[in-house]
Amino acid sequence: ASLVAGSLGALSEVMGDTQRAAGATERLLDLLAAHSPVQSVLLPEKLPPRTANGAALHIAELDFHYPSRPEHASLAGFSLDVRPGETVAVVGPSGAGKTTLFQLLLRFYDPQQGSIHLDGVDIRYLTLQDLRNAIGIVPQDTVIFSANAMENIRFGRPGASDAEVIAAAQMAAAHEFIERLPQGYQCFLGERGVRLSGGQRQRIAIARALLKNPPLLLLDEATSALDAESERLVQSALEAAMVGRTTLVIAHRLATVQRADRIIVLEHGRIVETGTHAELVARDGLYASLAALQFETQK
Ligand code: ADP
Ligand code: MG
Repeated sequence: ASLVAGSLGALSEVMGDTQRAAGATERLLDLLAAHSPVQSVLLPEKLPPRTANGAALHIAELDFHYPSRPEHASLAGFSLDVRPGETVAVVGPSGAGKTTLFQLLLRFYDPQQGSIHLDGVDIRYLTLQDLRNAIGIVPQDTVIFSANAMENIRFGRPGASDAEVIAAAQMAAAHEFIERLPQGYQCFLGERGVRLSGGQRQRIAIARALLKNPPLLLLDEATSALDAESERLVQSALEAAMVGRTTLVIAHRLATVQRADRIIVLEHGRIVETGTHAELVARDGLYASLAALQFETQK
């Protein structure tokens, strides 16, 4: 089970983005399914057709502890409704439950109590494939595969044309740096290829998500500092990625929380404050102290 229980990093990104890819990925999926702590239903339901604004999310009274730690609630009484097209920033100290929330949305685990509905359908009644096709993930640490730049972005939607990949890269502010690589989109990346900077890797991840065009986007913002130019480009890419979809973002930057429609503040698995940046600063509670520290005590 530890294979599945890992962080919301490499593994979940591979899961979400390459389901239709053949060969090795299918074996990986088999392996994951065999170890999965979640059960699938016999007669799965289908999601309604994607709307222009993205998905509605209804999260009700979640209680969750990891199987290995039954005495420790990672989420408790957690409820949240998100309208189609809304951007909700999730902040809270390290260990508050932010990543756990994403893991439950992706059904790496099921909660012991409560439910999650995506566009009115309990996610337990969807196939894992339909669920994960509806969710795009931009993780903290983007996996760059040993493949060229074109293929690295195409992982977002295997079968996309070159023109679609390039359009996604343009929206994600990745096109210019890719064009400047030796051989451009044909440039080989990864361990034995050209190493990208943190900001460049993030924009590749955002381009993948744009190509996938999911109704729900989960962003785990990188904690590591970017130079000012990179930061500006990543912010513009994020802005493009949020249009026309519902977004939950684990936020580490003031620019991101300020742009969110709503901020929820998590502590010990519970929502302790909610509001806009200005409202929460005025409250002078946990959010205000996290903001004063530039959210550096989060992970
Ligand atoms: P955050 O992302 O806000 O830093 P997490 O969601 O990672 O917090 O963790 C919430 C709580 O769940 C913490 O107490 C953490 O120690 C615990 N936790 C996280 N992952 C696991 C796991 N795989 N097994 C057991 N406990 C875990
Ligand atoms: Mg985390």
